[in-house]
Amino acid sequence: MILLYHLIFPDDTPACNWNAGKIIRLSAFRRQLRWLKKRFAFLSLEEYLQVWKETKSQKKRYAVLTFDDGYARTFALTAPVLQEEKVPATFFANTRNLDGKHLLWFVYFNALCSEQVYPRVKINGLTIPLDTEKNSLFAWRMLIRLARASTDARAFAEEYAQKYPLPEKTREKYAGLTSKQLAEIGGSPLFSLGGHTHSHPYLDQISFSEQTKEMSLNKNVLESLSGKPVPFFAYPGGVYNKDSIDAVHQVGFRAALAVSPKFLSSDLMDEIPRTDVYSPAIWKLQLKTLGVVRFFRKGRM
Ligand SMILES: [Zn+2]
Repeated sequence: MILLYHLIFPDDTPACNWNAGKIIRLSAFRRQLRWLKKRFAFLSLEEYLQVWKETKSQKKRYAVLTFDDGYARTFALTAPVLQEEKVPATFFANTRNLDGKHLLWFVYFNALCSEQVYPRVKINGLTIPLDTEKNSLFAWRMLIRLARASTDARAFAEEYAQKYPLPEKTREKYAGLTSKQLAEIGGSPLFSLGGHTHSHPYLDQISFSEQTKEMSLNKNVLESLSGKPVPFFAYPGGVYNKDSIDAVHQVGFRAALAVSPKFLSSDLMDEIPRTDVYSPAIWKLQLKTLGVVRFFRKGRM
C-alpha cells in the first residue's frame, strides 16, 4: 500500500482552515504514523516497487509514504518526525513553486478560500462570502470546477491572482520546497524526490509534447538541485491519459504513480495505485488501509 499525503499543518492551525478535506495537523500525522507502524512495515518506494515487481502483487503488510506537491512547510514539519520514527518518504515535487516563487494554481485557490484574506470572492458574477467553512468550500469547489472547464487551469488561476493577490505571509505557508531542502532530501538516506511536473497542469488537457516538457523540466531541476536521480513520477491530481504514459517513458521515469488506475497500460508500473489520506481521523485511516470487513470485525472484538 502506498499512502498519499499532501499538506500537514502546524498544531496551532485554526479549525476554519482546510485543504480539500479536513486539516491534518502535525500531532494527528504523528498519531497516524504510529498507528500505521504497528500494522505495516514501512519500505522506501524503491524497495516496495521491487517487492511488487518480484511478486506481481502488492504486499499487504508493507506501506510506503508519499507526499505530493512539495510544500516547504510540510517537509519542515514532517522530516524530524519521519527521522525520529525512521520512516522513509518520497516527496513528489513540482518545480514552478520552488523557493516560494509562485504558488501552484490550485494551491493559490486553497489559500484564497481558506486563509480569510478577502471576506468574499466574485466568481462568474456571483459574490460568494468566505466567512464560513461551508461557504469557503463552496467557493473552492466552484473555482476548481471552472478551472478544469476552462481547459487552462493555470491561466484561469492567474486571472484571479491578479484580482485577489495574497500577502507574502499567506503565500509562505503554501510555498514549494527550497533549494536547500532539495539538497537535504538528496543527501538523506531516508528521503527521496519524485517527479510531479513543473506547473501541475491537468495532463489530459495538454499535448504530448507539452506533457513531455512539463515532465522533463521538472525531472532535470529536481535532479540537479538534489544531486540524485529521480526515477519515479506521480500524475498531478491523479489525472492522465495514454500520452502521459508515453511521455513518462520518453522522459525516462521507471514507474508512475496514480491514485485510481485507469488501466490504460498493460504494465503495472505505469499506473501504480495509491491510498489518499485527507482526514486526521484514525478510524478513516483504518477503513482505507485495512478495509471495511476488518474494521467491523475488529469493532466487534
Ligand atoms: Zn499534486
